[in-house]
Amino acid sequence: MSRFFQSPSLRARLASINFYVLASAIAFVSLVILLTSACITVRTQVLDGETRLELLNATLAPALASDDRAAAMQLLSSLRALPDVQTVAVFRRDRTLFAAYERDAGSEQAGGLLPVDAQLGYEFHWATIDFLAYAHLDRAERGWIRLVIDLSAIYQQVFWFLGLLLLETAVALMIALRLQSRQIDRLMNPLLVLTENMAQVSRGQLDTRAAETGVAELDLLGEGFNAMVEQIRERDRWLASHLGSLEQMVEQRTRELRSAKDLAEAGSQAKSEFLATMSHEIRTPMNGVLGMTELLLNTRLEPTQRQFVEAVERSGRHLLGIINDILDFSKIESGKLELEEVDFDLLGLLEESLELFSQPAQKKGLELVADLPLAESLVVRGDSLRLRQVIANLLSNAVKFTDHGEIVLSLVFGISDENRFNLTLTVRDTGIGIPPEAQEKIFEHFLQADGSTTRKYGGTGLGLAICRSLVEMMGGHLSVFSQPGQGSSFVVTLSLPFGQLVEAQEPLPTVRMTGARMLVVDDNQTSLDVMLGQARKKGFDVGAAGSGVEALARLRESAEAGEPFSVVLLDLHMPGLPGLHVASAIRSDERLKATRIVVLSSSVELIAREDQARLDISACLVKPVRQAELFEAIELALSRRAVRAGSKVSAIPPRLRGRVLIAEDNESNLIVARAHLERAGVKVSTVSDGRQALEMLADERFDLVLMDCQMPLLDGFEATRLLRQREQGSGLHLPVVALTANAMPGDRARCMEAGMDDYLTKPYSGDEMLAILQRWLPAERRQLTVDSTEPDPENVVIASPLDPSALDKIRALSPARAELLVRQLLNVYLKAATQEMERLESAFRREDVEQLASAAHGLKSSSFNVGANRFAEILRNIEGGGRAGDLTEVSLHVESLMVEWGRVSLAINQMLAEDPA
Ligand code: ADP
Repeated sequence: MSRFFQSPSLRARLASINFYVLASAIAFVSLVILLTSACITVRTQVLDGETRLELLNATLAPALASDDRAAAMQLLSSLRALPDVQTVAVFRRDRTLFAAYERDAGSEQAGGLLPVDAQLGYEFHWATIDFLAYAHLDRAERGWIRLVIDLSAIYQQVFWFLGLLLLETAVALMIALRLQSRQIDRLMNPLLVLTENMAQVSRGQLDTRAAETGVAELDLLGEGFNAMVEQIRERDRWLASHLGSLEQMVEQRTRELRSAKDLAEAGSQAKSEFLATMSHEIRTPMNGVLGMTELLLNTRLEPTQRQFVEAVERSGRHLLGIINDILDFSKIESGKLELEEVDFDLLGLLEESLELFSQPAQKKGLELVADLPLAESLVVRGDSLRLRQVIANLLSNAVKFTDHGEIVLSLVFGISDENRFNLTLTVRDTGIGIPPEAQEKIFEHFLQADGSTTRKYGGTGLGLAICRSLVEMMGGHLSVFSQPGQGSSFVVTLSLPFGQLVEAQEPLPTVRMTGARMLVVDDNQTSLDVMLGQARKKGFDVGAAGSGVEALARLRESAEAGEPFSVVLLDLHMPGLPGLHVASAIRSDERLKATRIVVLSSSVELIAREDQARLDISACLVKPVRQAELFEAIELALSRRAVRAGSKVSAIPPRLRGRVLIAEDNESNLIVARAHLERAGVKVSTVSDGRQALEMLADERFDLVLMDCQMPLLDGFEATRLLRQREQGSGLHLPVVALTANAMPGDRARCMEAGMDDYLTKPYSGDEMLAILQRWLPAERRQLTVDSTEPDPENVVIASPLDPSALDKIRALSPARAELLVRQLLNVYLKAATQEMERLESAFRREDVEQLASAAHGLKSSSFNVGANRFAEILRNIEGGGRAGDLTEVSLHVESLMVEWGRVSLAINQMLAEDPA
């Protein structure tokens, strides 16, 4: 468009060229004609003038010769008939004027005397032609004759002529332009047609052709155009044919790709399913192996047998570790691994991880050094479990690949702008190191620095790959720096947000163990040695006894010597004098009264609570016992705080009651489950598939079903679904706990969907099973020797925060074991309520009304159960406020809640501190 405006059209160009050429030509011709005609006219005038002079001479010369002026004047006056004659003068030989004629009287052009320099001939002036000739008669000069011709008439004529010429030029120009415009049109039209053709081609109309114009150049142009269009058509045809095959090719490739993708997806699906099945298939027998070993370890075993069984357990746990690695790896691969977000103390986590490796490191004579910042805690938000897994893996590798020297775990941290910690965690060792070419390889799946490591050190080559993936999922980076033979440093750089500080739990009273005297009594030498070593490490002044008799002798001896043992660690099962007899002998000896007794039982048999109370046994633990637990129990015993049922370190499992149906098709798993259940005191029936389970549930009454998910005939999911259908409308709900070896995501949801209430993953430990049973089965009721003194009437007036009638109702459930039941209930309540109160507080701080309402709701009902009625009422108000989203309403009750909680917890603690005996 703009080009159109910028450059004039060809037609305009041609028109203007023609116009200028024509106009110039016409103007030139006109000028030539004008000048020519002017010249001719002047020439005619000159000739005319000379003729007139001749005539004048013929008439005037005789008068001059005869000096007849009158005749001359008469002759001259006749000149009036010639308007262009302006002046005629006749001079004598002496140049004086003889006679003159003036057309315009008074102009006096003739003058009186002919000037001396006057030339014969003619002379041009602007308005006149001046002639001068001799007046002669008979060949003799008689004087002069002057004639002046006026040119104005000629000028007038020229002007007229010029006007006419201009008019003619204009007309000629007009006609010429007219004619020329038609010619231009004729020339331009084919060009315009060609332009239109071009536009059509550009619009894709390739059948357009340029027609002949009769103009050679234009025809040439047209031919070129037609050839070009033909070429384009040819190219289009070629492209179209290739496009067709190209489309076919693309379609073919897409089909291939799609089927490859389907195949890959099916492969991945199959892989996931295979992993799920494999994990199930391996975990099921693993459950049998580990469960049986755990049970076996709790029985009396010959030292070699114990060694073997422990080796089996170690291998089993190792195998489980590998399975877990493979599962983790497949979860990461399939993008199904999700990270948790919890607040945790990173320093605590690192210390705990180090603790895990203190023994293995010690065994290899390695120094394990923690180079951590000097802070009390470093609370961050992230996935503590996965971070622990990473650190543990790095430490485990460091211990594995280092034979002498040290392993240092260090942490350096900075604080970034966005309330985050920038952390650099390093695990450095002085081990075998990693060759440079292998340093990246070791982060790949199933790859190790050197194939021979597998033979020497074992391992799957998955650990670091998982670690790197986990760290990267956390937004960090894991790298390695190493020199073969010098050692390696694995560095985790990570940025984690600040976490919220959870208020530290009240520390347990620490008792100075250093120097305290402890007698360890065990008939098993290995067990005795281990325990002695551990106790020494803790700073105890230890003594050892291999039998009950020897123990009593040593106790008495040292008491007499004024150095009594403060605590005796007593194995219950010894040949000769059994542990219980030793305990009873200690209690009956006045000198040994102050000695605290902690018993260890290596079998599932437990001592009766009455015996424990009667013999003032501080704690009863089941072997194998964790070092930390053992020393916590000893510490508590020394601080004279009784360790009772429900407390953390009590290993006496609470006795449960009720009937449990186990539906499980794997026989060894059935045995393990039955053993755990019977140990907890419940009655057990077993079936091996879902159909039998439903039949048995229809005939008999049970309190709980442990339902294996995968069973022949009718699987656990379907059986539960049918059971729930049967229960509909009856108001009954039998708790069903899923037993599954599936550790894949989504399993829990699947169980809940089928109507199951809880979930236990194989392989499970006895404690895990017990925790589940405790959740769903009532505890055994037992009569406590209650302190039946009547309450002080004054105390009754100051209303107790606990309604006694609520507890009485619980006692009435089982008069025989009433007090035990109450204690258990209070214990459980206290623990749960403490946690719920923390949850409530944090929800209130975060202004999370939903959490507030849910925490208050949960706590409310359990508080009513123990008779904390006022406390429950306040919780009801808070729940109401929370549900309504009204924080002001909630805050009105928070203070009274705190006060009431203080009263409730104090009352419960007092009740629990009372001696049940
Ligand atoms: P695994 O230890 O199970 O084989 P990892 O992925 O944890 O698998 O380690 C892969 C390989 O990296 C190891 O086999 C070993 O060759 C090398 N490696 C890992 N940590 C160290 C270390 N601290 N020192 C020397 N080599 C190491």
